[in-house]
Amino acid sequence: MDLQLKGKRAFVTGSNSGIGEGIVKALAQEGATVVVHGRNEKEASRVVQEIAANGGKAFVAIGDLATDIETEEVVNRVLSTLGAVDILVNNAGAYFLRDWMNSTPSQWMELYNINVVSMVRITLLLVPQMRELGWGRIINMSSSVATQPTPIADYSATKAANLNLTVSLAKELARTGITVNAVSPGAIVTPSLNAIMLQIGSAQGWGTDSEQIKQQMLKGVMSNPTGRLGTVEDVAHLVTFLSSPLAGYINGANLRVDGGWVTTIN
Ligand code: NAP
Repeated sequence: MDLQLKGKRAFVTGSNSGIGEGIVKALAQEGATVVVHGRNEKEASRVVQEIAANGGKAFVAIGDLATDIETEEVVNRVLSTLGAVDILVNNAGAYFLRDWMNSTPSQWMELYNINVVSMVRITLLLVPQMRELGWGRIINMSSSVATQPTPIADYSATKAANLNLTVSLAKELARTGITVNAVSPGAIVTPSLNAIMLQIGSAQGWGTDSEQIKQQMLKGVMSNPTGRLGTVEDVAHLVTFLSSPLAGYINGANLRVDGGWVTTIN
């Protein structure tokens, strides 16, 4: 299947690591030109070099999306590098192991800023030029905990907000050629999830062997019908298809990629 992504220009936030890294690599493999982003420049340059070594085209943009000023700088950099953005993947986000009674109001606000308002900042800056193009793809990274909350309450709530703003934006952008969708991964093995699993493993007395901890998690909170944890490629393949012209009739949707972890019918 030709995904018709050759020559498309993609900006994936938080793509110097984990799921975002998988997404930029998959898009670049399909012929899109990509911007690799994060706060850590060294990691972003590593991803750019790996893409270039495989014959892809990639550039770096560095900045903290938690502030208006740095976000504007990032977007200016992206637009001056690519000329325009056809595909925006709002992937950057953070999560911490803390439950309801161990979270403070300022932590809730800080996480909402990183996981929700950062998407709003980027979207407000990039939608006008997508309207001019008359075509665009916006994909917002949510999570399976948006619809099936865990005790990690502040994170689950931010991810529910991501779903809600996806649908309102799809309506706002009706008949513009721009589609807006959310992707909700289950447990995907990334550096951040590994760190959380190690924390859980040591609290549970499961030792420090990450393979053994994964097996324990699969018997417990991460149990799902596929019997395994997800990979960044599992998410990247879905996002790559959603980014393509072939996905033009998928709009305002929440697509789960969680091995069947969420137990509701949608
Ligand atoms: P990760 O490896 O830690 O990647 C997070 C990315 O976001 C990094 O590139 C990080 O770059 C960037 N980032 C974080 N805060 C930022 C900020 N303030 N400004 C700019 N960039 C920032 O985590 P991941 O597991 O791949 O998660 C990626 C996304 O998927 C998140 O939205 C997460 O909520 C979602 N998700 C993950 C899972 C999972 O199981 N892994 C499941 C469901 C949803 P720097 O550190 O260099 O800034």
